[in-house]
Amino acid sequence: MANEVKSLNDECGVFGIWGTPDATRLTYDGLHALQHRGQEGAGIVSNDHNQLHRYRGLGLLAQVFEDPQTLEILNGNSAIGHIRYATAGSHSINNIQPFLFENISNHFAISHNGNLTNADTLKRELSAKGVQFQSDSDSELFGDLIEVSEMDNFTDKIKDAANRMRGGFAYILMATDAMYAVSDPNGLRPLVMGKRADGSVVICSETCALDQVRAEFIRDIQPGELIKVDGDGIKIGHYTTDTELTVCSMEYIYFARPDSVIHGVSVHEARKRMGARVAREHPVKADVVLGVPNSSLSAAIGYANESGIPYDMGMIKNQYVARTFIEPTQKKRERGVSMKLSVVKSVIEGKDIVLVDDSIVRGTTSRYIVQLLRDAGAKSIHVRIASPDLKFPCFYGIDIQKPSELIGANYSVDGIRDQIGADSLGYLSVDGLIDSIGLKCDNQYHGLCTAYFDGKYPTPLYDYEAMYKREAKRLHLYEGMD
Ligand code: SF4
Repeated sequence: MANEVKSLNDECGVFGIWGTPDATRLTYDGLHALQHRGQEGAGIVSNDHNQLHRYRGLGLLAQVFEDPQTLEILNGNSAIGHIRYATAGSHSINNIQPFLFENISNHFAISHNGNLTNADTLKRELSAKGVQFQSDSDSELFGDLIEVSEMDNFTDKIKDAANRMRGGFAYILMATDAMYAVSDPNGLRPLVMGKRADGSVVICSETCALDQVRAEFIRDIQPGELIKVDGDGIKIGHYTTDTELTVCSMEYIYFARPDSVIHGVSVHEARKRMGARVAREHPVKADVVLGVPNSSLSAAIGYANESGIPYDMGMIKNQYVARTFIEPTQKKRERGVSMKLSVVKSVIEGKDIVLVDDSIVRGTTSRYIVQLLRDAGAKSIHVRIASPDLKFPCFYGIDIQKPSELIGANYSVDGIRDQIGADSLGYLSVDGLIDSIGLKCDNQYHGLCTAYFDGKYPTPLYDYEAMYKREAKRLHLYEGMD
């Protein structure tokens, strides 16, 4: 369901463009297509090749850049931008990106999507070297590491810094003479590159933003890559070759826009396959299939096609809910649900219903929706989740890091069914998820991070290891865990 009404949010969206007079406007348009990835703040840094110019603020992109003059002061033919959903750091303007770094030898700005798992260690090391942090977000550490690097040239400083970071990170960096992009060694967060008809190069989180600025897709940025774009064109290099693609499966399930394509897989088609598979894994007799708007609609269509039960529009999402209801606090989110969703009574009254949703996080939203359908006269409600049970926390850029916050870590499937008040509940299996996404990759693995569901983290957890083990042990997530 929509990001803003579910207690699960991706960290951010990033966008960068090199080599067009309309760079700032196009960055705004590209960020607009990525607004679903965060609503807490937005910013743009433009580059006139002498200086970098920044404007940033709290709120939705359109609110931050409400005054048209704010875009006009951002001169230059290249720009990067960022939209933020906070996972690390407080909700202050200081944490709104892009971050600017202006020391004597280098001027650059960075935009980040993800979460560093060794941020505390890096902060301690950097503090010991006298670094003054400009925010309390882990995202700025890449810039700090570049500034303290003792390598000779700027590209080597970037490589040096990238090799120090652990976790999930997709960075775009704008220097006065070049734009760079860096993906973590697992490619956990998506990053794509495209080109416009005027020759300008775009790098951004999702292909929907390429489409928005009429850029033709060139390629996904691969794990461990360092891309440099400047007056000489595009250079593809690596800061490490110790890589293995494990892109975040939640991107396909929930975060990405359905019109995006990630590593060759259409998000909409993957969601339809997930819905079809859960229909095979958990069949039920019913009169109508409903999807929770908006991110579950593709899966609901898949369920209906596979089961032969007609799909109908039984729920409506109000698109015009005030900013206050999409802030990242649980209380506001819950209130946001009641403001955002309503039902079409004629579709529901007296019917046996299959309700397809993409995931259950804390369970409060599902409970609310099931009650909404009961109040509208549903005879029975069979909830089908087009992803596996969320049992384990994410440390790579999602805002739930404690198993105690996940209903799936605390209750059995029957227990969750009772908690949300459904007549039956069925989840997609992990194998079903992997098959449905159907990522083709070179390594022997399936190319996905599925840690949320099976606890198989593709990297060590570094600074989070102790906290995670404590929580997991308390909740008996692992049998025989030491
Ligand atoms: S743990 Fe979950 S949300 Fe986090 S990167 Fe892995 S699949 Fe994505």
